[in-house]
Amino acid sequence: MRVGRRRFLVTGAAAVVAFDPLGLRWVAQATPGTVAVPDLDGELLTDPAALAEAAEDYGQLVHRSPRAVLRPGSTRDVVRMVRFANRHRIAVAMRGQGHSTFGQAQSAGVVIDSRPLSDIAVRGTTAVVGAGATWGSLVDAALALGMTPPVATDYLGLSIGGTLSVGGIGGASQHHGSQVDTVRSLEVVTGTGDLVRCAPGDRLFDAVLGGLGQYGLIVRAWLDLVPAAATARVYKLTYDHLTDLTAAQRIAVRDGRFSYVEGQIVPAEGGWAYVLEAASYHDTEPDDAKLLAGLPPADAEITDLPYRAWLNRITDVVDQIRPLRLPNPWVNLFLPDAGTDAFVADVLSRLTPAEVGGGPILLYPVHRARMTRPMVRLPDTDLVFLLSILRALPADDATVDALLADNRAMYDDAVRIGGTQYPIGSIPVTPADWQRHYGARYRRVLADKATYDPRRVLTPGQHVFG
Ligand SMILES: Cc1cc2nc3c(=O)[nH]c(=O)nc-3n(C[C@H](O)[C@H](O)[C@H](O)COP(=O)(O)OP(=O)(O)OC[C@H]3O[C@@H](n4cnc5c(N)ncnc54)[C@H](O)[C@@H]3O)c2cc1C
Repeated sequence: MRVGRRRFLVTGAAAVVAFDPLGLRWVAQATPGTVAVPDLDGELLTDPAALAEAAEDYGQLVHRSPRAVLRPGSTRDVVRMVRFANRHRIAVAMRGQGHSTFGQAQSAGVVIDSRPLSDIAVRGTTAVVGAGATWGSLVDAALALGMTPPVATDYLGLSIGGTLSVGGIGGASQHHGSQVDTVRSLEVVTGTGDLVRCAPGDRLFDAVLGGLGQYGLIVRAWLDLVPAAATARVYKLTYDHLTDLTAAQRIAVRDGRFSYVEGQIVPAEGGWAYVLEAASYHDTEPDDAKLLAGLPPADAEITDLPYRAWLNRITDVVDQIRPLRLPNPWVNLFLPDAGTDAFVADVLSRLTPAEVGGGPILLYPVHRARMTRPMVRLPDTDLVFLLSILRALPADDATVDALLADNRAMYDDAVRIGGTQYPIGSIPVTPADWQRHYGARYRRVLADKATYDPRRVLTPGQHVFG
């Protein structure tokens, strides 16, 4: 039953009209002690399907049902709901595409579904986007005008607000930093329900980009665009030895000869093989010999793909895997350059392909100096390697627990050599770990929380503050 636009809404049987702050329930009838739900342009849902969707994510490891899901009809709805949540101390999280793996977008209070906030306008070298738009829809809109975001994640079906809340890294990050480094300004709803526009130099801007939804919910972003090339020439060089892969990556990333550099570790006869994946985006034929000069020798597989098809290369695979609802206990670590080879060799000596399942293992470097946003915590070395073990496997609870413990052990080992986690995965951590994660910035982190979300209602699934 819908109670009409600009009223609150519908829930299986009856319309929600009020919140019972003592019973922490939404109710269909206002009685003394209940408080009226704010007037909304969109819908506040409590039907089982809406709650069930918000209670799960890509990882299939954590399931926490909210009491209601807001499908906002406007930015104003986000303001009103967060203000309401703040007043009544209701936990609230924004959920983009739910591609977190460990409950990061879940909340026992309200989940705000950002997908309706998906408008996109492309103006020259800037895109103005609603936080719920996906990178895929932005790529389509930008390419229609010959432009592209400078950094694409490997999978384009992620929301822009979701990746700006974590960082957003890809093979072009060696040149442009993370996606958070390509943001010109933001519109944010803070934990007190204030709608604020912020830009580089503003404290809120620093806090929110890569801020894991702790200081504000991004509702709109102004993003850089660059001219798009027509074609991606893709190079795959397969090595028998890890050190050949990382040597090739260091050479290629230091001189920036490719537009994109990543790498994969794949199961092979008797162990692992190491694949450098690089691409040159071009409108005129690239010089293969020049691009491959000086790299450790390897058989090279070279293919040309239209640029859009290249960016879209894993969409079908992900869209097939997600409905299988496999547990995805991912571990994602940033490693200091000097420690990377020994660390990865040690991990691989103990890891079996069966413990990874059908997911890939990624390994690639980026320039630390290009990653400028202070909340994306990285080792302090010129080059930083991302190691992502993207496990996807059928597993019972005991196996999942063992894999999570293994993730934790890897994280501890990484921290010992100066590494950090890229917080998109499934590593059990405590507030003390977050304190260590933020290091010298932790005092600012606490101060920002006190300023922008003093009642700590935002994004509880990250467990940064408890
Ligand atoms: C198949 C796959 C491929 C991936 N590839 C890459 C990759 O190449 N590079 C990379 O960097 N990452 C990658 N990721 C990780 C991904 O970037 C993060 O998990 C990202 O947060 C997911 O976006 P989402 O829209 O699904 O976010 P959600 O899971 O919905 O949310 C993620 C977190 O951000 C918060 N949040 C969401 N929207 C907002 C908002 N508007 N304002 C404030 N907080 C918000 C949520 O509350 C939650 O804490 C990949 C993930 C998957 C599943």
